[in-house]
Amino acid sequence: MKQKIFSIVLIFSFVLTITGCKSNQNSFMDNRPSISYEIKNPVRKAGNAQKLASYQENLTYDMIFPCTGNSNIDKVIFGHITDKINSFMSENSNYKANGNSNRKELYSSYQIFTYGDNNISVEIQYLIKDPSSKTETETTETLIFNGETLISNESVFKKQKIDIVVQSIKDSLLSSEKYKSDFEKNSNAIPESMEAIKNFAFSEDSVIFFYAPGSILPVQHGVVSVEIPKEKIQEAFSSASPSPFKGPKSSAREAVEQGRPIIALTFDDGPMDGKTNIILDELEKYDAHATFFVVGNQAEQCPDILKRQIDLGCEIGNHTYSHASLSSLSASQIENQINKTNDIVEQATGIKPSLVRPPYGSKNQNVKNTVKSPLILWNLDTLDWKTKNTNSTINKVLNEATDGQIILMHDIHSPTVEAIKTIIPKLIEKGFYLATVSEMFEAKDLTISPGNAYAQAS
Ligand code: ZN
Repeated sequence: MKQKIFSIVLIFSFVLTITGCKSNQNSFMDNRPSISYEIKNPVRKAGNAQKLASYQENLTYDMIFPCTGNSNIDKVIFGHITDKINSFMSENSNYKANGNSNRKELYSSYQIFTYGDNNISVEIQYLIKDPSSKTETETTETLIFNGETLISNESVFKKQKIDIVVQSIKDSLLSSEKYKSDFEKNSNAIPESMEAIKNFAFSEDSVIFFYAPGSILPVQHGVVSVEIPKEKIQEAFSSASPSPFKGPKSSAREAVEQGRPIIALTFDDGPMDGKTNIILDELEKYDAHATFFVVGNQAEQCPDILKRQIDLGCEIGNHTYSHASLSSLSASQIENQINKTNDIVEQATGIKPSLVRPPYGSKNQNVKNTVKSPLILWNLDTLDWKTKNTNSTINKVLNEATDGQIILMHDIHSPTVEAIKTIIPKLIEKGFYLATVSEMFEAKDLTISPGNAYAQAS
């Protein structure tokens, strides 16, 4: 496909050279598309505009995109433009226009911003005009480069701090004369999720978020851009974000870099009034973190405990609604078990669990395909539920704890609660850093993904 497009452009084109950038356009002027697409007052802080166009019988494209003069960056940008052209051409390969005014047309234009030490970010807007359905669809995508490297937009913000970013965007829309009244009618249009903040560019002292027409405000507003000063969302930047947007390293990562062993204590089957709180007291005393895999029908009784867990920096995972053995359930029953508990936790804390621990460790292919979170197992079972013996639980952990381990306990048994009073200080004395499951994987640069099961971080 790529080959074909290049040959078309070469045969029918003349070439302009502007400071090393090529502008390719076919010269049959009367064959030009019906409109010329351009962003109103685009910000273009670097490079030059470049054009790639082809006006054919049924399909046309007319792309304006940047040439920065850096060949690695330009290759990535050109790749995005040609991918867009290729999918437009192949998706519409059977389209018959019957006359120039009925051709399907693809356009692009762009903005380019600079930040930090001469780094750039690019916003590309696309328009597809489809006369057969009388629709015009505008979309936006952003590319952020750190030096010559394209960074993943997903890595810029901490998952637990998305709420801060989303709230700042909402506040900004509500204080904007232009958008206020329309946004007020539908202020839930921006969900608290990564998906809601995936298109953005870094500018000198701010982050600019972009939304396609109709996605958060009525279509007539066009592409909506919301500029947020970086200080407002400072604490949401991850340590993987490029400077000057880089967040501080997590203390778990610092511990790993210092060569300390790291471990994740996990507690299942709670929360339980009078028991879970004592474990939280101990964690708070030593500034340690743990992960609680909660059962939904108990969690709904104790929203205050859930809230305290999050306030102390602990993590809440999903242990189903009724402690069901997931491998014996249908896909919709599994979804019901997971979603109900996620909703309860999100309602109490504002944070949706991102991990699932299947009760009894029971999982099959259906469970893996259905659950949209990583499955977290364990590699040290204290057997606290069986022995119900404080010393036995203490000894098991202290004798067998190693770096990267996920330790299974239950916060509903009194002997376990007692054991924790010894386990936490002793582990710290041995040099261990006590992290949540997510912190431990992140600190070790290990990615965990939905549909996969993990028993340890190594
Ligand atoms: Zn359980």
